[in-house]
This record gives sequence, structure tokens and C-alpha cells, in this order.
Amino acid sequence: MKIFCSKCSSLAAVVMAYDYTERRVWLDDMDSEFVSVHGYPMCDKHASRLTPPVSWTLTDRRNLVRPLFPEAIQPTRQAV
Ligand SMILES: [Zn+2]
Repeated sequence: MKIFCSKCSSLAAVVMAYDYTERRVWLDDMDSEFVSVHGYPMCDKHASRLTPPVSWTLTDRRNLVRPLFPEAIQPTRQAV
């Protein structure tokens, strides 16, 4: 199943999730075991441009090494 960026029509590679009470936002790869079902899919371009609100903490947990054929990876979704 292909999942598209919530901001454009590109394929999503990243999931952005946040905790409003803790004022934290984090980025995970789509295939990460940490992906929240309440996250927002994003392409790499939009994820890299993401800036958290003032006084929020951004944690980037993406793997910097990308697979050669990302479309072959099926995302797994688990609650955090
Ligand atoms: Zn995008």
C-alpha cells in the first residue's frame, strides 16, 4: 500500500507524530517500529523542512541510510 505525504502528492517516507502536553514532535521512518497510528505521513522534503513551534522539542529518529528501493518496504504501524 502506498502512502502519500499529507502536504503534497509525493510518496511518504516519514511519519511525524507529536505529544501536545509534552510539547514534543518527532520524525520516524515509515517502516520504523515506533510509528504511531496517529502520525502524519510526510515526504522527505517536507519532513526536512519541519520546524517545531517555539519551546517544542523536535526529535529526528530517521535512519540516515535510505534503502535502494524504498517502494519495496511495507510500512508497519504500531501504537507508541
Ligand atoms: Zn510532501
